[in-house]
Amino acid sequence: MDYEIEKVIKSNRKTFCIEIDDYGKIILRIPKNSSDLEIEKFLNKHKNWIYKKLKVIEKREIELYPKKFIEGEMFLFLGNFYKLKIVKNQKEKIMLNNNEMNISDKYKTDIRKVIIEFYKKKAFEIISDRVNFYSKKYGYDYNKIKITSANKRFGSCTNKGNLNFTFRLIMAPIEVIDYVVVHELTHLIDKTHKKSFYKKVEKILPDYKKRIKWLNDNSYLLKI
Ligand SMILES: [Zn+2]
Repeated sequence: MDYEIEKVIKSNRKTFCIEIDDYGKIILRIPKNSSDLEIEKFLNKHKNWIYKKLKVIEKREIELYPKKFIEGEMFLFLGNFYKLKIVKNQKEKIMLNNNEMNISDKYKTDIRKVIIEFYKKKAFEIISDRVNFYSKKYGYDYNKIKITSANKRFGSCTNKGNLNFTFRLIMAPIEVIDYVVVHELTHLIDKTHKKSFYKKVEKILPDYKKRIKWLNDNSYLLKI
């Protein structure tokens, strides 16, 4: 097994510290004057712990994808996981209940279709709502909202002022959806991705960098 250190942070601390986040990124915090040998020694000493932790993360990803659309499988909605359950006597095709995604047994051969339909509907409702909120508050004038099935492009803004968002965004937490919404609304007045663009985004969402980080770290989760 091999691993990569994402970041080494040197500071006035006296001890070595290693952190592995939920996505397997490794951060090493070390005293300013540590030598390569000291770093190597430290990593060697904690090798087993690192491997063990990375294995758990890897296994979790394998369990999540590719989707099999069977009972017990986990599906994301607004940043929370819901366990798929097929239920009898449910009028609605799909319902979220506590931590369960309940699907009527009448649709048990169409689970993928039902979930995507649900995601698209909710994406339109919730994203439209957020676009209206921010455009009203900050005086942005857009034309239309469209929900797409794009895999990697979370949002876009056309020259006619149409805003496109992928339905996959509905799996992300609302703060992250808000970031993509504000990003695309800002494109109505600034088509660049220059510093001045992000300054405008920052005025609306001071913590926008945290939200971008979530997207970068977790975009692999926004799949179905
Ligand atoms: Zn952009």
